[in-house]
Amino acid sequence: MPHKRWITQAEAVIEEHLQHWLHRQKSIRERHSAEESALRSLPRISIQREEAEQRILTRCRELAQMHGFQPAIIRVKLLRSRWGSCSVRGNLNFNILISLLPPHLFDYVILHELCHLKVMSHGKLFWDGLNALTKGQARELNREMRLHSRLMQRDFVLH
Ligand SMILES: [Zn+2]
Repeated sequence: MPHKRWITQAEAVIEEHLQHWLHRQKSIRERHSAEESALRSLPRISIQREEAEQRILTRCRELAQMHGFQPAIIRVKLLRSRWGSCSVRGNLNFNILISLLPPHLFDYVILHELCHLKVMSHGKLFWDGLNALTKGQARELNREMRLHSRLMQRDFVLH
């Protein structure tokens, strides 16, 4: 095959791949914006701030005591990208939206952050510890949490 023709064919293959890639990117973008407008068209969720905060704080203290954890300061906030966090100083932050989760996942998020008081990273030691508190269901529960991540993109009214 002449050299020049080979290059043309190679270019055609690259071009085809590029077109395919661009097409995929476009449909991903379209799907995302369709999902976003669907989420926006849902009614706003109303949250009783005081009540939700108390429920989270109470349950966190309860589970901490039950399993021997000692969190420093526990705070509840409206967060848009995470369910909870644990600082190196042993402070816990919870997304007020966890109050909208089913009870077993509500507990899961709290237990997850409590376990970070002992192990900061998500290594084997962490999952072993969390498994011990969730009847071996830690990974499963973690996967289940993903089904609810869109809650964080909804519109809310805090009362
Ligand atoms: Zn974590």
